[in-house]
Amino acid sequence: MRIRYHQPIPNFFKIENPINPLNSISDDVLNELNQLINEKDFFNASFSRLSEEFKNEWGIDWDNIIILKYKMSDDILTMEPSREKCVLEDKEFQEFGKKAFEIADYLRQKGFRADLIHPLDDAVSLRAIAMQSNDCIITRSNMCMFKEALNVGFFMIETSIENLPFKSENDMQWVEDFCSACGVCVDRCPENAFDEEGKFQRKLCTAHKEGCSKCVLLCPFYKRGYDKVKKRYERKQGVL
Ligand code: SF4
Ligand code: SF4
Repeated sequence: MRIRYHQPIPNFFKIENPINPLNSISDDVLNELNQLINEKDFFNASFSRLSEEFKNEWGIDWDNIIILKYKMSDDILTMEPSREKCVLEDKEFQEFGKKAFEIADYLRQKGFRADLIHPLDDAVSLRAIAMQSNDCIITRSNMCMFKEALNVGFFMIETSIENLPFKSENDMQWVEDFCSACGVCVDRCPENAFDEEGKFQRKLCTAHKEGCSKCVLLCPFYKRGYDKVKKRYERKQGVL
C-alpha cells in the first residue's frame, strides 16, 4: 500500500500583496495577529530570521518567516495505518492550510507582504527553516518538535515584517542528548527505518505514505509532554 497524502493546497488568497509593503509591525498589530492565530486554532507562531548564509545555501531570498503551528489530531494519530487515516490527515492539513491563507490575507490587509511558502516545495526544507527559529529541535525519529507538542504540523508565511520577536538561542539542544540515551523509536520501529548507528532513514519510513505514527505514540515527549521530560532529565543530570 502506497498512499500519497497532503495534496497541494489551492490558492485561497482574497487580497493582493501591497505595492509598497511595510516592514515594521506595532505591538498592537502583533497582539492582534497572535490573537487571530489562536482563533484559527493554531497553537501560536514561531519566527525565523534567515541569515545570508542560509539563503545562499538554499537559493532563496526570503528574510522573515512566520511559522503557524497546529496540533495534529490525537484521534487521527492513534489510528492504525490505513488509507482512511491518510485521508483524514490530509483533510486536517488542508483545513489548516486554508486558515493560513486567511492569516496571510490579514497581514496583506495591514500593509505587509505575506506569501505562503508552498508546503510541498521540495526545493527547500521547511524543517531547516523551522530550525532557524531556535524554537524547535529535530528528534531522533525525525520529528520537528516544538515545546507545545511532538505532533505539530505547520505552515509558513514569508513576510516583509523585519521586527518580529525572533529568538537568538535554542534552549532545546538537550533533547539530542536525551534521544541518544533513549532510542525507543529505533528499537520499536516496525520498518527498521534506522541504520546501524541509529540514524533515521527517510526512505524506509512509512509515516507519509501509509500513516505510521508508532514512534510518535511511543515517544516520551508525546506521552508525557516536553516540560515533564525536561524536568526529569534535569533531575537526573543534577541540574535541579
Ligand atoms: S522515542 Fe526516544 S529517541 Fe526517539 S525521538 Fe522520542 S525521545 Fe528521542
Ligand atoms: S513513523 Fe513508523 S516507520 Fe517511520 S520511523 Fe516512526 S515507527 Fe518507523
